[in-house]
Amino acid sequence: MSTSPRPREARRDWGHDETGCRVLHIDMDAFYASLEVARHPELRGRPVIIGTGPRSVVSAASYEARRYGVNSAMATAQARRLCPDGVFLPVDMRYYRETSRRIFSDVLGRVTDRIEQVSVDEAYMDVSSALLAWGRPTAIARWIRAEVSARFHVTCSVGIASSAVVAKLASTMAKPDGMLLIPRSRREEFVGMMPLRAMPGIGPAMERRLHLWGISTVADLNGLDDKALTAAAGSATIARRLRLMSHGDDERVIAPRTTEKSIGAERTFQHDASGSETILGLLRWCCQDVSATLRDRHRVARTVTVKVRYPDLRYESRSHSMPSPSDLDSRVYHEAVILLARILRVDSETLSTHSQDHPLTPLRLVGVSVSSLSDTGTTAVQPSLDETAPGEDPDLGDPSSRLRLTQAALDTVRHKYGSGAARLGF
Ligand SMILES: [Mg+2]
Repeated sequence: MSTSPRPREARRDWGHDETGCRVLHIDMDAFYASLEVARHPELRGRPVIIGTGPRSVVSAASYEARRYGVNSAMATAQARRLCPDGVFLPVDMRYYRETSRRIFSDVLGRVTDRIEQVSVDEAYMDVSSALLAWGRPTAIARWIRAEVSARFHVTCSVGIASSAVVAKLASTMAKPDGMLLIPRSRREEFVGMMPLRAMPGIGPAMERRLHLWGISTVADLNGLDDKALTAAAGSATIARRLRLMSHGDDERVIAPRTTEKSIGAERTFQHDASGSETILGLLRWCCQDVSATLRDRHRVARTVTVKVRYPDLRYESRSHSMPSPSDLDSRVYHEAVILLARILRVDSETLSTHSQDHPLTPLRLVGVSVSSLSDTGTTAVQPSLDETAPGEDPDLGDPSSRLRLTQAALDTVRHKYGSGAARLGF
């Protein structure tokens, strides 16, 4: 959720000329919190905060919770102090991603394929080719807002403009549950009202640099000539981007991003953990989460990476590529245990012996990610040598495909009853 400053006076009617306004920026309102309310309607109207555990941070807060001063990235402990009666819920990334995927395919994807997904709850759309069928960009925005609300019981805000930068600022101004059109002829006036930090790409460091040159609003950027702006920004490329932005323009081409390069899951321990049972338990959870995401997205992975964080906040990680790609919990977990053993400098056999709780180096966090991804349909997934046993009845299929069927059945149970409902015993 955005915590950027926004001038209240920018939220008003800027006119109705839609000519040249081909960019929509769609942003779900308090997405994770709204999705929790969507499946628990009894929480409607209550301050809902996503992120539990003493060491976690707030991932999302409903607008009711924001009234207490709760914001994203705030420590959960602080949020509890600000809002002691808040409803604190754990992050259920699988549910949020799955709903996001459906919103993108069932709603946004019906308008155009020129969609650039920025995050699980945010996207740019170039609707130029859809205008013949839809007539006006605002008609598209209204339909999207109505569909998302009716089908998924969450709201979204939409900015409509002639450039991505203005569309993004407009959706922020329209929040929550609103829509704002900035006509092309008003774009410079609109961005000119913005404080520097409201602009995408201007962080605290760049803001400080520009302040030294007497620039504190976007409009001030136009008081500098190109040479001075280059000196102030520190590079000609950044200066050029700032100049375009100050006029309400950019050169962004809206196109589908190449699909993700990796999928990961990590968990922070409530207390620094050193028992092998606890550590392996969370490692297994991470592997199951990652593998389930792979299967949900019809992807397989070749490379497994394990990351740990020590109590002194140091990170360490190890990766390994498997001989053939996989999307199975057991394969990913098998690799992960070997990698973890290497990180902790212990024997992997000893580590994976479940009968004993071995003391290990204390850890604060364990994470697993997979990369070298490919589509399940186009990748030959060969059973590895340790999966084929001699004397198997060929009519039953190889052990790998049987495991795959079992896994698919378990996924169905999980989707229906929650991620803790069933898992393979390994
Ligand atoms: Mg959002």
